[in-house]
Amino acid sequence: MLEFTDKGIFCPRADVYIDPWKPVKSAIITHGHSDHARMGNGHYISHTETMPILRLRLGLDISIQGLHYNQTITKNGVRISLHPAGHIVGSAQVRLEYKGEIWVVSGDYKLMSDGLSVPFEPVRCHHFITESTFGLPIYNFPPAEEVYADINQWWKQNASEGINTVVIAYALGKSQSILHHLDLGIGDIFLHGAVANVNDAFNAEGHDFPGIRVTPEMDRKSMMGAIIVAPPSALSTPWLSKFPPSRKALCSGWMQLRGARRRSGVDRGFVLSDHCDWTQLNEAVLATGAENIYVTHGYQNTFAKWLTDRYQLNAIEIKTQFEPATADLE
Ligand SMILES: [Zn+2]
Ligand SMILES: [Zn+2]
Repeated sequence: MLEFTDKGIFCPRADVYIDPWKPVKSAIITHGHSDHARMGNGHYISHTETMPILRLRLGLDISIQGLHYNQTITKNGVRISLHPAGHIVGSAQVRLEYKGEIWVVSGDYKLMSDGLSVPFEPVRCHHFITESTFGLPIYNFPPAEEVYADINQWWKQNASEGINTVVIAYALGKSQSILHHLDLGIGDIFLHGAVANVNDAFNAEGHDFPGIRVTPEMDRKSMMGAIIVAPPSALSTPWLSKFPPSRKALCSGWMQLRGARRRSGVDRGFVLSDHCDWTQLNEAVLATGAENIYVTHGYQNTFAKWLTDRYQLNAIEIKTQFEPATADLE
């Protein structure tokens, strides 16, 4: 029912692509990260909570249809529905059914709750397309609740020394889950513009993410003891050097590798990911009951081979346009 084409995953019968990386007539978008949500498609279908993000990033004039989780639409006999992926707010798995055959495209997902997005729900299917960003046994993430507590503890310590705290996290998703768990009693929260833009889009739809946008006129010397949330792109810019004195931390699954933290030049790394670690990936694949697994987006070769050898699944590697590096820090 689904084909892997040079434009992305395609359902010919329903004439719709999923997360295409070249412009097409009709696209289902699993979530708003830039390697999944591209410009130039004729029509977009996404979860309702992803709509404000697509409008923010792709333009207010895009043609877009919102679906709730479990709501079904039918295209030329193919029943299509979205199901929680637990990756970021509004992220969805796509389920397609035709004449009893069921395919599920997971997009990006995680099983561990971030305490904010609707938790991942396993969907039974015959064919499952999975990412594999952290598809190696060395990746084994701590519970997010512990990490949020560690971040607050570190911020409190820095603030007591009169030092600013800079937290580097992906602007869409990771930043909001951190903001949602910050202890507002410790100090003020300031935001890089990229994070503030995403917050504004969500807050206009009823969310309540805290923080003050940093503007050029702002007196940054008065920010002593505050926490500043900024995206990875800010790491190499002068924007960050304007908050002295400060300590910086990077929040990412890659922080499990000590070398990755050292190379990024930050003071601290928090292991916080919106993707599955090794255990979660295995659990998710088995929970679908699918015999046919298509592995994309990461360590597809290694993970596909593992699934074949360990569980006798019909698992194959699918090459996608994005390298693991582009999923960096999500
Ligand atoms: Zn993503
Ligand atoms: Zn991705």
